[in-house]
Amino acid sequence: MLKTDNLKIITSDIKRVRWSAEGKITGPVVIVFIGIHGNEPAGIAAVDLISEQFNRQSRELLGSVYAVTGNLGALEKGVRYIDADLNRIWEVFYSQKDISRANGSKHSAEYTESIEIKNTIDQILAKHKKRASDFIFADLHTTSSQSCAFILLNDTLANREIARKFPIPQILGIEENIHGTLLSYVNNLGYKALGFEAGAHFDEISVKRSEAFLWLLLHNAGVIELEREELIQYENRIQGCTGVPDTYYEILYHKWVVDPEKFEMMSGFKNFDHIERDTPIAYENGRLIKAPVTGRIFMPLYQKRGNDGFLIIREVPEFWIELSAHFRNSFLHRLLKFLPGVSVANRQSFEIDLRIARFLVKDIFHLLGYQVIEKDENTLICYKR
Ligand SMILES: [Zn+2]
Repeated sequence: MLKTDNLKIITSDIKRVRWSAEGKITGPVVIVFIGIHGNEPAGIAAVDLISEQFNRQSRELLGSVYAVTGNLGALEKGVRYIDADLNRIWEVFYSQKDISRANGSKHSAEYTESIEIKNTIDQILAKHKKRASDFIFADLHTTSSQSCAFILLNDTLANREIARKFPIPQILGIEENIHGTLLSYVNNLGYKALGFEAGAHFDEISVKRSEAFLWLLLHNAGVIELEREELIQYENRIQGCTGVPDTYYEILYHKWVVDPEKFEMMSGFKNFDHIERDTPIAYENGRLIKAPVTGRIFMPLYQKRGNDGFLIIREVPEFWIELSAHFRNSFLHRLLKFLPGVSVANRQSFEIDLRIARFLVKDIFHLLGYQVIEKDENTLICYKR
């Protein structure tokens, strides 16, 4: 177990860029976020382990790496956040909608954190933009329930290409259900971005897996070159969930919770557990919540912070993945407006009237790489990514 005592030591000398190593200026740049949630210290511990190893033995750096610390205030206190979830407020930077103010007037503590993080990203980009061959972002997290390691990604072909180098489950399209994440912000700037979830918050194995993921990320991005034995060792370390194939998963259902104090998961659910439709899952305001679909339970909420109660996911057939990669740049986009219930909203988006649209219309938009978001009960909006 990671102890809170350790956490204090970890956070006492905190600064925004916790570690950086600069090598070949024309190489790729990896930017890793750690501690975006203040009760998730595993990523920070992992970065410290790697920086120590870099200090002990020099490695050839074919690019550069930066580890950027997230919620400094919340890390100090060991809580997920102070006023607002730092991983839900990033829409403010690409929309006019200011969701950053807590209780009406005062900016949330996290707004200030997000400004500093944004400035740090801007500085790194400005420094390397002219000469770097590529930028790859990653965001390191842990979960409140036991879990194997997995990757979260917004479903773009560029993200898939880097993500598929890691032999662990990959969950596509998180941005359609969870809005305002740092990863979405980075994706919308036009860069590749992966989320890595290492396991339960205070398990020692979460530090080990985060460390292995970082070594693999540096290798897969081309910043360092691992020896073959190292590669196998780190891949083995992040793998290892029996009964959970390392394939792509899509989100079928997202249980949004208004007040986490009044939401209670039934005990014993582990991430990726199979559940049948109508399985009792949780209580909300004293009412029993059952699974609306059959699938696998995903990120069940076993803490009193956060609004995502649980999600239900399922494997995406491999052929569908390949087909979609094939079709994304094809002429088929021009035919979408002829589907039943589909109308053109503007150059970048379509609207789907669910009262008219037939089965598979939503899947067709996914196949062609659109982001599908619910506007209201009867309408979906599909954005071209
Ligand atoms: Zn987190």
